[in-house]
Amino acid sequence: MASIKILEQKCIGCKKCISGCPFGAIAVEGEGKARKAVILDSCTLCGACVDYCKFAAIELTKDDVCHEDISKYQGVWVYCEQYRGELRNVGLELLSQARRIADLLGTDVTAVVVGGAIADQATALIAYGADKVIYVEDERLTDLNDLIYTDVLTMLVKKYLPSIILLGATGFGRSLAPRVAARLKTGLTADCTKLDADIEKGLLLQTRPAFGGNLMATIITPNHRPQMATVRPRVFSPLTPDFNRQGQIIRETAPALTDQAAQILEMIESSGGVNIGEADILISVGKGIGNVKNIELAQELATLLGGSVAVSRPLVDCGWMPYLHQVGQTGKTVAPRLYIACGISGAIQHLAGIAADKVVAINTDPEAPIFKRADYGIVGDCVEFLEAMIAEVKAKNIHAL
Ligand SMILES: Cc1cc2nc3c(=O)[nH]c(=O)nc-3n(C[C@H](O)[C@H](O)[C@H](O)COP(=O)(O)OP(=O)(O)OC[C@H]3O[C@@H](n4cnc5c(N)ncnc54)[C@H](O)[C@@H]3O)c2cc1C
Ligand code: SF4
Ligand code: SF4
Repeated sequence: MASIKILEQKCIGCKKCISGCPFGAIAVEGEGKARKAVILDSCTLCGACVDYCKFAAIELTKDDVCHEDISKYQGVWVYCEQYRGELRNVGLELLSQARRIADLLGTDVTAVVVGGAIADQATALIAYGADKVIYVEDERLTDLNDLIYTDVLTMLVKKYLPSIILLGATGFGRSLAPRVAARLKTGLTADCTKLDADIEKGLLLQTRPAFGGNLMATIITPNHRPQMATVRPRVFSPLTPDFNRQGQIIRETAPALTDQAAQILEMIESSGGVNIGEADILISVGKGIGNVKNIELAQELATLLGGSVAVSRPLVDCGWMPYLHQVGQTGKTVAPRLYIACGISGAIQHLAGIAADKVVAINTDPEAPIFKRADYGIVGDCVEFLEAMIAEVKAKNIHAL
C-alpha cells in the first residue's frame, strides 16, 4: 500500500512543504533543531508536496504496479440500474456516452442489468445504443441489496473482462460501484462530469471537479482493469432510441446468493415527493432571499408554474430547506427547461449542478458570477421580483409553462 513519511534526519523544519499541500495535511512541530514536519491524517497521498522539499525529506512510496495482462480486457459496459423492473434513466444516459467512447476506441457496448423481473428491458437497451445485453434475472434480486448485487456484478466482470464500466451515481450506484471496484482491486472515479477516450492508449478519460470544485481533474486508470466511473443522473442525454437496432442478449445465472451480512426487511418509498432532478421548472433560491419566510414566495411561484423549489447549499446548512432541494456539486444535478436563480451568487460548486436549458438570474450585484451562466439577468431585489412575478402570473391567469 502507498505510504508517506518525513525523513527526520533530512528535515530542517523550513515549512516550505506546508504551502505545497492542497489538503492542509502538513504541520511543522517542535522548536529549534527539533522542528520537523509531520504528516496529518487528512493526507490523501497525492504526492504534491514531495517536490516542494529541497532537502528530499519527504518519502512517498507508491503502490506496486499491477502486472496483470490488461490487454485481455475489452469493451465498454454500462451497469443499467433498475427498480422493480423499471430502468432508471441514468443507464440510458450513460449508454449514449458508452456508444461514443466505444466508437472512438473501436470496441462494443454492453448493457448489464440485474434484477427480479427484467428480461423485458433487454430490447430497449439495444435500442438505446447497446450491442449486447447481459442480464441476470432472479427473484432474490428484486430488492436492491448492494451486497448481493456486488457479488453478481463482480462475478460477471471476472467472466467477461470489460475494459470500462460506467455506473450511475445514484444512491444505490454510489454504494455498489466502490464495493465492486474494491473487490476487483481497481480504481473508481466518482461523479464524472465529462467522459472521453485516449484513442492511442485505449484509456478512459474521466473528468470531474476537484479541490472543492475550483478546477477540473482528468483522471486515468492506466495500470488496472476495469476502468470504473460513476456519473450523476441528467449530466448526459440518452440517444434517440432506434428500435430497429439488433443486438445479442445473454442471460446469466446469479451466483449463490446466501450468507449475506445484511438482509433487506422492507423497502419504504421516501416521502415528500420532491425530486428536483426531474423538475421542468425550478425556482431556486440562495442566501439573497434574506429570510426563511421569503422562501414561501418561491414556493408559491413554483406551484403556479407547475415547478419545484431548489436551493443553494447555505440554505440547507442553516436548516431553512431539506437537503433534497440542494443543487450543486454536493447536491443534485438538475436539468429543467427553466431555472430561475433568485439571490444566488453563482459559485462554481453551485453551477456544477445546473444543466438547465435556460437560466434567469436575479441578483442585486451586477458582478455576481451567476450572470455569466444566465441567459437573462435582472439586477435587482429577488423578493420584489418574486412578488411581481406572482402578481403577473395570477393577473394573466398563466398556469404551467
Ligand atoms: C466542497 C464544496 C462543495 C459545495 N457544494 C455546494 C453545492 O452543492 N451547492 C451550492 O449551492 N453550494 C455549494 N458549496 C458552497 C458554494 O461555494 C457557495 O458558498 C454557495 O453556493 C453560495 O450560496 P449563495 O449563492 O446562496 O450565497 P452567497 O454566496 O451568500 O450569495 C448570495 C447572493 O445573493 C445576492 N443578494 C443579496 N441580497 C439580494 C437580494 N435582495 N436580491 C437579489 N440578490 C441578492 C448577493 O449579491 C449574492 O450574490 C460548496 C462549497 C464547497 C467548498
Ligand atoms: S519536509 Fe522538507 S520542506 Fe517540509 S519542513 Fe522538512 S525540510 Fe522543509
Ligand atoms: S501527499 Fe499530498 S496530501 Fe499528503 S502531505 Fe503531501 S501534498 Fe499533502
